[in-house]
Amino acid sequence: MAGSGKFFVGGNWKCNGTKDSISKLVSDLNSATLESDVAPPFVYIDQVKNSLSDRIEIAAQNCWTGKGGAFTGEIRRVVFVEQLKDLGCQWVVLGHSERRHVIGEDDQFIGKKAAYALSEGLGVIACIGELLEEREAGKTFDVYAVSSWDKIVVAYEPVWAIGTGKVASPEQAQEVHVAVRDWLSKNVSAEVASKTRIIYGGSVNGGNCAELAKQEDIDGFLVGGASLKGPEFATIINSVT
Ligand code: PGA
Repeated sequence: MAGSGKFFVGGNWKCNGTKDSISKLVSDLNSATLESDVAPPFVYIDQVKNSLSDRIEIAAQNCWTGKGGAFTGEIRRVVFVEQLKDLGCQWVVLGHSERRHVIGEDDQFIGKKAAYALSEGLGVIACIGELLEEREAGKTFDVYAVSSWDKIVVAYEPVWAIGTGKVASPEQAQEVHVAVRDWLSKNVSAEVASKTRIIYGGSVNGGNCAELAKQEDIDGFLVGGASLKGPEFATIINSVT
């Protein structure tokens, strides 16, 4: 790994689970003695925080651009940073492709949320990644825009690899991670470039994680489907050698 700090593995549970299945997952993770981050569905954050080992940090899957208030019944777009902190979240996932392409969030809006979350002390897992048409059109390197880099982990998640079983090859992922690091070096600073953890997401599983983790510029993973299976998620967290 090239970035500094621990190999960063985040489990994105998306909107999956019930009280019972989440309780089983938590007990699998607790017995595996692991360090990682998990992003439970909002409604289960409290349950997870209260039962999961402190070695595992909690990320929210979204947040809002400012303070809480009059948004009756809202949970999809409007999630307050203050309440996330109150629940014990240390991180927030922003810019995930499911929010960009299904909900319609753009870079500007995501940037506002990131700036607010950072100003309130949350770490940001900032997701970037090209659509299949963009990769095919050679636009892989044009689609990322994040403005603040303090407390940011960058997750490169090619949209065509998310939830499809079609993982990027180690070489494909490494190529983009190097380009992101170069971008950081040219546009922010060499220090930020060398310190920032750049993690890969998109169909990571227990079978492909070890080869990906060998790549110099892969500093961790953001894992969806496989993070819902405790033993497999443990294998992924331990994949760095
Ligand atoms: P996946 O999802 O591992 O199921 O492909 C990754 C993600 O959405 O972050």
